[in-house]
Amino acid sequence: MKIGCPREIKNQEHRVGVTPAAAREAVAHGHEVLIETGAGLGAGFADKDYVEAGARIAPDAATVFAEAELIVKVKEPQPEERRMLRKGQVLFTYLHLAPDPEQTRDLMASGVTAIAYETVTDAHGGLPLLAPMSEVAGRLAPQMGAWALQKANGGRGVLLGGVPGVGPAQVVVIGGGVVGTNAARVAAGMGAQVTVLDRSIPRLRHLDEAFRGHFATRYASRAATEELVAQADMVIGAVLVPGAAAPKLVSRAQLAGMKPGAAIVDVAIDQGGCFETSRPTTHDDPIYVVDGIVHYCVANMPGATPRTSTIALGNATLPFMLALADKGWRKACQDDPHLLNGLNVHAGKLTSRPVAEAQGLEA
Ligand code: NAD
Repeated sequence: MKIGCPREIKNQEHRVGVTPAAAREAVAHGHEVLIETGAGLGAGFADKDYVEAGARIAPDAATVFAEAELIVKVKEPQPEERRMLRKGQVLFTYLHLAPDPEQTRDLMASGVTAIAYETVTDAHGGLPLLAPMSEVAGRLAPQMGAWALQKANGGRGVLLGGVPGVGPAQVVVIGGGVVGTNAARVAAGMGAQVTVLDRSIPRLRHLDEAFRGHFATRYASRAATEELVAQADMVIGAVLVPGAAAPKLVSRAQLAGMKPGAAIVDVAIDQGGCFETSRPTTHDDPIYVVDGIVHYCVANMPGATPRTSTIALGNATLPFMLALADKGWRKACQDDPHLLNGLNVHAGKLTSRPVAEAQGLEA
């Protein structure tokens, strides 16, 4: 099969859908790989890296879209990309169609078969193509929070790990899922004293078994949340209620009870954020201060580390990309119900119930 990977054109997107390593695997499976020139540059991959992997370089996106039977990307296709999609072609990428009726309409009109990374599932009830980005965001969170805590950024001037004779910073992580666990591990590794709050007892049990001695766990009651937030130098928001906006767990009034110059890193901002005072920020202008508390609320944190993020995403998408190319989408989805869950649009029809419900349409 002919697999094509265009350069991402969404603003500030530096990741790429196919890594040279993934291209090499596909070529070894007997497929042809076509990469738009410069597609990998933002993630540190030159055209020659792809050529060495056995791929062919296309001069522009139009060539990739015209020739490829399977298009592998990162972000949802932009309007000019959607105009190049065609019937019979398979698109494998993040789509996030639920809040995007315009894109949904265009994909249906194009006749493309669109498989969305974010709705592919695994046998443990997880989302294997979202998890790597949660891992990146989680590990970045204490790093960005540590920076926000610096005096020049409005922070209280506290070093996370302290030094001999000076105690460490107190870090509170609300939500102990993929983001929260990764954030807690890194914050503890930086020497901070870390507590993770969660509403799920099985999750707290797992964290206690795996990480006792590295960080503490508490049930996320209102009382515990209020008490710990008031004592914290840094609070990381990492909750998720699937399919819903993030619950507001810290009010503006609570900021007054926090240590002046404490930092908030609201990773859940892509779902609206779990602090009342959160609003989305960008990598260009990532922080702002409300009532003396520094807020970091970047909605696409993995964009800060496109090389790591690209490789992590590429590792996770590779087996699915190979299955789609080896067997064709129909047989690949018949054989793997988890990949089938990724099917959002086919032959002009919406095939994802959650997306249809969100848009008041029929699936
Ligand atoms: P996850 O499902 O693995 O974990 C979420 C956890 O939150 C679960 O353990 C759940 O029990 C807990 N939770 C739910 N409600 C709670 C409450 N009221 N109090 C305490 N805990 C509660 O999800 P994840 O992959 O860790 O993602 C967390 C959030 O981070 C999501 O909103 C996700 O979209 C977001 N995210 C943002 C970025 C970014 O760049 N900003 C990147 C990746 C993920």
